[in-house]
Order: sequence, then structure tokens, then C-alpha cells
Amino acid sequence: MPHFAHARVDLDAITDNARLLREHADGTPLMGVVKADGYGHGMVPAARALAAGGASWLGTALIKEALGLRAAGIDLPLLAWIVPPGEPVGSAIAAGIDLGVSDPALLEVIAGEARRLGRTARVHLKTDTGLNRGGVAFSAWPALVEEAARLQDAGVLRVIGVFSHFACADEPGHPSIGSQLSVFHEALELADKAGLDPEVRHISNSAALLTLPEARFDLVRAGIATYGINPIPGYSVSGLRPAMTLRSRVALTKRVPEGSGVSYGHRYRTDRETTLALIPLGYADGVPRAATNKGPVLLGGRRRTIAGTVCMDQFVVDVGDDAVEAGEYAVLFGDPGEYPGAATAEDWAEVLDTIPYEIVTRVGVRVPREYV
Ligand code: PLP
Repeated sequence: MPHFAHARVDLDAITDNARLLREHADGTPLMGVVKADGYGHGMVPAARALAAGGASWLGTALIKEALGLRAAGIDLPLLAWIVPPGEPVGSAIAAGIDLGVSDPALLEVIAGEARRLGRTARVHLKTDTGLNRGGVAFSAWPALVEEAARLQDAGVLRVIGVFSHFACADEPGHPSIGSQLSVFHEALELADKAGLDPEVRHISNSAALLTLPEARFDLVRAGIATYGINPIPGYSVSGLRPAMTLRSRVALTKRVPEGSGVSYGHRYRTDRETTLALIPLGYADGVPRAATNKGPVLLGGRRRTIAGTVCMDQFVVDVGDDAVEAGEYAVLFGDPGEYPGAATAEDWAEVLDTIPYEIVTRVGVRVPREYV
């Protein structure tokens, strides 16, 4: 019997989405991005499902995440791209994990660890082409590629990749896209002049994969779309299937009179005698408190709205006189193809003025993932 409240994860959907995205990118090799516990879907199961769909690389933010993949026996090339001071660089090198380099000082740390271990480290140099977040500033790029080439000649590391990340790929036509691409080309030329010949040049995330064929280079890094979520509001990607369904059984129902204030602060008041249904999921489980009186829930065959304040562990739905009973399922978000009338993570994001990434990654550790 499934847990009362759970996130159901359809691994075949992830596999099919990866396959579809590879086709969409004309066969460009795909890095499946599995950071943040596979965007909340479960890192290792998601990684395996992505590999089954043809992902030939996996990407994480942290070394810790990549080490988790290796510990699970996953032997695909792995890239971890956020490596602040103090991270276990030596363990990553020993595990054959590729490291993203956004800071010239990190290159020296990596070289030191590689020498200590007697290994050749694998690095991807990240150039900041205009996101102004991670990546080496363009002014520091020429010195970085010279130094990387020197360390490569000395045999302590290999520059496997050069990469960057878009600021506005989810806004097709945004002027920053073209300018980032041209800076990326310049950065690649400088790397080439320094004698580097990286195997993989990569800049595209899901949105760029879908809309910018000229930005595919040798590898595309896709996260959100592999989980069946459209990265671009209002854009339609036919064939993608949402992999996660967040659902719960109704814990209890009760009749209350007209004028009853519901949940903390009485932010909802019944306008007639009605039935309230209690759903045991709250903000500790990833249902944002901001969904108070807003979050859509499919229950008893109809889409309804959360009644009153979302609490830490539960919220209430007003079902009127409908025959909703304890034990029946409420679907917060999922695949409308499977649950007609269900909201999607995109719908939740729209209602809450956020992005669907936040909706799926916030599903809490208390919510069991059930794989189908
Ligand atoms: N590459 C980098 C550097 C990222 O930080 C991310 C995610 O934020 C991705 C790729 C994947 O992006 P998306 O989930 O939009 O495909």
C-alpha cells in the first residue's frame, strides 16, 4: 500500500523525455542534470532513468552529489560545477569526477590534489559570458587558459570541457542570448590559441536546447525538461510528460456550518454548510505557505483551491456537498494526461509567482518518493 502522502515518480517518463530531448537536439550528446536530488525526483533513480534514455553525461552542482552517484555504481562521466573552497576535491579526482573551474585559485588546488594522488584531474573551465554568477570573468580568462594549458602539458590535469551558462535562455529572443554566444565563441578561440582542445564545449540548458540549435556545441545540459516540465512559460513542447505527481489521500472529512473560519488565522470562511477535507501535506513537505487560499488541488474529480492557511503538516479543501471521503486521493500536481483536471508544477508556479523548479525541488524529505 502506498504511503498516505507521496510523490509518485514515473521513471519511464524521465527516460522517454531524455530520448525525446536528444531527438530534439538532433542527437547532440545529453548531460542529464541531477543536482538537488534529481530536482526532487530522487538523484540515483533519476540518473539511471536518464541514462536509459540516452544521457551520456550527468551533471551535479556539488561534489557530494557526484560522489553519491559514484557510490551508487554509476560510471558515466560526471561533472560537478560548484566547487567552493574546502570541498573534497581530492575525493572527486580519485572518483574520476570532472570539476567545473570558475575560479583561477581552484585550478591550483586541483593541480595540488592531482599531484598528491598521482592522478590526472579532469576539469571543465567555466567562462562567464554574461550571467555574472559563476564562471571566470572574461578579463581573467586568457590567463586562466594559459595556466590550464601549462598544467595540462605537465600531465596533472586535462581540460575536458569549456562551458558557460545563459542568463535568459527562458526568454527566447532576449538580446543577452546573442551576446553571450559571441563571448562564448571568443572564449573558445582564446582556449584554442592557448593550445587547449576540449572534448566538449557546452552552454545550453533545457530552454536553449529547445530554442537555440546554434548553441548546442558538443553537449547540452538538460535538467527541468527531462523531468517533463516546460522551461519556457507559454512554450509548448509536445511529448514531454511530467514525471512527478504529488498526491495524498484525504486524512479526514467533516461537515461544518456556514460561517466557519478555517485553519490558522481563519483566512477562509465557509459561505454555507459544507464538507472540509484534510490533506496531510504542509509547508514542511514543500506545499508553500504562500499557497494559502491559492494552491490548486484535484479532489473528487474537480480542481479546487486550498481553503485557508497551509500549515506545517496539513491543509484543508472545501468540497461543498460533493461525496469526498477519507482515503481518496487528492492530486496537487501531476500529469493531466494521467489525472484529467490535475494542475501541473507549472500551474503551481504561475499561481505562486515562482518557477516550477522551485515547486518540485521543494518537495520535502518527509514525502516518500514512490517509483513506478
Ligand atoms: N547547467 C547549469 C550550470 C545549471 O545550473 C543548470 C540548472 O540550473 C542546468 C544546466 C540545467 O538547467 P535546466 O534545468 O534549465 O535545464
